[in-house]
Amino acid sequence: MDVTNLTIESILDGYKNKKFSVNEVVESYLKRIKRHDKELNSFITVCEKEALEEAKKKDEDLANGVKLPLLGLPIALKDMFSTKGIRTTAASNVLKDYIPSYNATVVDRLKDAGAIILGKTNHDAWAHGSSGENSDFGPTKNPWNKEYTPGGSSSGSAVAVAAGLTPIATGTDTGGSIRLPASFTNVVGLKPTYGRVSRFGIISMASSLDSIGHFTKTVSDSARILQTTAGKDGYDATLSSDKPKNYLKNLKNGIKGLRLGVPKEFVTKGLQKEVKNAFEGAVKILEDLGAETLEVSLPHTEYGIATYYVIQTAEVSSNLARFDGIRFGNKRTEFGDEAKRRIMLGTFTLSAGYYDAYYKRAMQVRTLVRKDYEKAFDLSSGGVDAIIVPASPTTPWRLGEKVNDPLAMYLSDALTVTANIAGIPGLSVPAGFNNGLPVGIQILGPQFSEDLLFRIGYSFEQKTEYYKQTPNL
Ligand code: GLN
Repeated sequence: MDVTNLTIESILDGYKNKKFSVNEVVESYLKRIKRHDKELNSFITVCEKEALEEAKKKDEDLANGVKLPLLGLPIALKDMFSTKGIRTTAASNVLKDYIPSYNATVVDRLKDAGAIILGKTNHDAWAHGSSGENSDFGPTKNPWNKEYTPGGSSSGSAVAVAAGLTPIATGTDTGGSIRLPASFTNVVGLKPTYGRVSRFGIISMASSLDSIGHFTKTVSDSARILQTTAGKDGYDATLSSDKPKNYLKNLKNGIKGLRLGVPKEFVTKGLQKEVKNAFEGAVKILEDLGAETLEVSLPHTEYGIATYYVIQTAEVSSNLARFDGIRFGNKRTEFGDEAKRRIMLGTFTLSAGYYDAYYKRAMQVRTLVRKDYEKAFDLSSGGVDAIIVPASPTTPWRLGEKVNDPLAMYLSDALTVTANIAGIPGLSVPAGFNNGLPVGIQILGPQFSEDLLFRIGYSFEQKTEYYKQTPNL
């Protein structure tokens, strides 16, 4: 059977109406992975045997009338998600033989809801990067043009969904690692509010910025997955104790009368012309759908990258200390250049004498960035419901183009990092193509406004239907 265009919704409906079995679906995805992934390199580990065994069990469950929200749904997991009994590498040689003895909360939740793990996906080692090329398991290719990067760090998860190798894949977003690759591959990427989805069992990058989300083909699929992953687990102290909302309830309510802000600091000269055009087209569509768009200001946006690269590297240097070959990892240090660069930068900014000038300063600017957003979202004083911005300053670049220029690579995060600094949610949705390569927009909202982001994204998606386009492999 052809699974290329299947959404989560259509798979679960197909089971219900007995159009196909779980086994057929799982087999078809595994076949596609075999056929296409040698070239795309989106998976590090494929769990063929286990997935087929699970599929049999799920078919029995379905026959026995078992009701679970994701029963028989195949999923892929970024290789930063701990999986009991399945190798979890963080895409680094340091952990190439590491087999966790427990599951991340998100993995447990998805499995408990009936999902089946197809495999673990490729990404920049330790999630450090914007192109997927920092992986010790080789770069992932963009299925829309294999000479181009799919964006990173969650390169494999984005590609696996875009190429129809899985209907959903998880990701982590510390500075844009879900939203950027989603926009480069024509899929939907959700970075939830910090504190909405548990970080327990996910290999930490920068603990105050890490956000756990996922890639899907459609917005309603994204909402469905968040419904399963969101909420307190007793293991991540930063989780909100508020109950997750019903993310599917208001999806189809339309966006008439919503106030959508376009921050002038995001649409600058630095924005590539093609991105600007696609973005303006998207704003027009949102207006046609009945939203009111207005200019807002987020004055500290220009300090985003600098602030992020101080706070993030400081936290990275601390989090990577446990991979010293005593607690985790091999006796030989096998960190790649990018991890070493970040450990050194972070150690420097945290050292006595420099702490106040760098780390403390960055934390002060962090507060200013957060306040910018709070002010923009303050409806009682002329603010907006949500903000619309491009997902990336440029369209995808060629593989190899920026690997030797870390600063150029860091700058590609300019439009995504401030959401992590402020802890707010962001949804990246497809917004068209340029020269056959995808372009995306991001919808940003106040903390815990994922339901609103889905509602806006859904209206936009129903009008544009870019998700129906799939790459020619
Ligand atoms: N590209 C950014 C970085 O290299 C963000 C990575 C991420 O979100 N994990 O740090």
